[in-house]
Amino acid sequence: SDVGSQKERVVTEEEWLEKWEMGNIGFHKEEGHPLLQKYLDVLLNGRSGLRIFFPLCGKAVEMKWLADMGHSVVGVEISEQAVKDFFSEHSLPYCEEPVPEISGAKMFQSTSGNISLYCCSIYDLSSSIIGKFDGVWDRGALIAVNPCDRQRYASLMISLVEKNSSYLLVTVSYDPNKHKGPPFYVPESEIKSLFG
Ligand code: SAH
Repeated sequence: SDVGSQKERVVTEEEWLEKWEMGNIGFHKEEGHPLLQKYLDVLLNGRSGLRIFFPLCGKAVEMKWLADMGHSVVGVEISEQAVKDFFSEHSLPYCEEPVPEISGAKMFQSTSGNISLYCCSIYDLSSSIIGKFDGVWDRGALIAVNPCDRQRYASLMISLVEKNSSYLLVTVSYDPNKHKGPPFYVPESEIKSLFG
């Protein structure tokens, strides 16, 4: 199908920050995502104590859920408000420290140590900074990335996962001529070519 109408669309970091400031965050859900519950076994694949990555994490409640199950969660989000809201809405004490490798970036970590949220652009990260992951929950992430950045995003994500990792990806299906996005429509064929 024709995705030409969305190809050129760019949402700037400032626009995302503004969405958070204005409370224009319809993408945030208070209930855990039903597809994570449904495919949890696929993500975990019988393993425990995994390192799980949440790209473009917002204040996704699933981070708390997986951390409570004994996994170690790492997220990245450009909005500091989102990160702080996450910890305060779950009454989790946290500390905040600079990230030496990335100028201006901060890392917010729960005092218990099992949730670390990087406040910076995902494109500033690499496996030398955050390590590699056993699992990824990609909901509202690939489909929120600007279409022109998709290849870069996918290559980065591939570089951040261990060999035996599971990657759960949620996409949306709709007529891209009727909505400018985000969320963007990413056809299955493109997902295959991005991730192989
Ligand atoms: N995955 C979350 C949020 C989805 S909305 C959820 O399920 O609720 C996309 C989020 O990505 C927004 O919170 C936005 O602030 C953030 N974002 C956009 N561009 C980003 C970038 N380059 N690096 C990190 N975060 C980004």
